[in-house]
Amino acid sequence: MRPFGFKGRNAGYSRETGDLSFGYFPAGTRPAGFTVRKGLICTALSHDIIAHETTHALLDGLRSQFMLPTNVDVPAFHEALGDLVALFLHFTYEEVVEQAIRTAGGVFTRSGLLADLAREFGYARARGGRGAALRSAVDVDGVAAFDSDVAADRDRRPVCYEDAGDEPHALGSVLVSAVFEAFTTIVSRKTERYFQMAGINPRAAGTAPLGEALVKALAKEAKDVATQFLDICIRAVDYCPPSDMELGEFLRALITADGDVEQSDRWGYREALMRSFRRRNLFPDHVRFMTEDAVRWQPPQTPLVIPGLAFSELRFAGDPGRPADADELMRQARALGTFVSSPAHARHFQIVAPSGRLPARVTQASPPTVQSVRVSRRAQPNGDVLFDLVAEVTQSCTVTRGNDLFDVNGGCTVMIDPYGQVRYIIHKRLDSENRQNRQHAAMRGPLAPYWRRAGRKFVLRPGMLKRLHGHG
Ligand SMILES: [Zn+2]
Repeated sequence: MRPFGFKGRNAGYSRETGDLSFGYFPAGTRPAGFTVRKGLICTALSHDIIAHETTHALLDGLRSQFMLPTNVDVPAFHEALGDLVALFLHFTYEEVVEQAIRTAGGVFTRSGLLADLAREFGYARARGGRGAALRSAVDVDGVAAFDSDVAADRDRRPVCYEDAGDEPHALGSVLVSAVFEAFTTIVSRKTERYFQMAGINPRAAGTAPLGEALVKALAKEAKDVATQFLDICIRAVDYCPPSDMELGEFLRALITADGDVEQSDRWGYREALMRSFRRRNLFPDHVRFMTEDAVRWQPPQTPLVIPGLAFSELRFAGDPGRPADADELMRQARALGTFVSSPAHARHFQIVAPSGRLPARVTQASPPTVQSVRVSRRAQPNGDVLFDLVAEVTQSCTVTRGNDLFDVNGGCTVMIDPYGQVRYIIHKRLDSENRQNRQHAAMRGPLAPYWRRAGRKFVLRPGMLKRLHGHG
């Protein structure tokens, strides 16, 4: 952690140097808000920037290939998850939430304090005394457009995926606003009864001052729901493919992750998420209906049991989350690697078996790599704890397009139950011509700053996140 990392209006995680580095800079001569004129702004003092950057580092630990910008959604997802974590963490400060609810008269979306990200940072950059936060989760004004239970009117539609352009922050904020809308919808559903008890029409909230007991009840509910949404978002990372992430796939991950833990969904969390994603045209590929069954990842059609990976065969160091030692971890990785790359099973995992035939247009396939094997532990609402093994297997293939050569990454995230049976294979096909074409176009178009050419081949430039934040 380098709180005085460098002079500049930026902060960043770097895998190459293994640090989180925070910049500092003087505020402008006419900053907005409470910022002192020409005062020193330290990004290391901003809650949101710390949360955002730390999330980059943690996500990189879980999904190292999300640092490979192979389509515009990949950097957008890195940005969006950082913003979502920062945003939901706001709601864990109960006093702050209470104050915001008091000011906003119970309307969360009207409260800049809760929804605006990195406000101080934005104010300090302001010229002419007018400030706006760096980014805001609330992309439309007015609660009607922000509550999935209320039909949106024509001029107040949220920004849709296809209209956001291909700048990663703008694109990522479509995802942030989708998840945030589902959150506010659930908070509205859960708090309606409090308004009714207080004799206030919840749809007219924001016009009348609220009693203290009501403010406290609302803040508590908002905090609880935010904590749940934060959990759902973090849990969903386990259900993401290992590479070439698409924003619509995060919906599939959210729905599956939540459905695995909470079957009943009494308040309609998953339905609210599907609705807010659909309203932004964040539609997952290969999903024909926006229903829970269609959106969920499906178990493999053939039952697959991996020898050596049942919980009865794993050796732990006291806690199922900790393998006994490096040898045990290596043994688990070998058991998985042997199984998925065997000619009989490779096709289920979208792996090119080392002895197998190369897909069309592929000149070379690397050996499959087991990136990680981890135990995931998820607490159910009834207190039961569910365990799974989560592993990622990746493989890269060199593809030719005209005179160009580039690597396409594929493989799968494998979820394995305590009996060694595969629950999900969340894969990325190496032989998909669409994916290859999309990556080729992106590397020559919007993602060109991240790549350079070495002869015929596209090679990643170092410092992906630094480049990414350079845009913001
Ligand atoms: Zn970022």
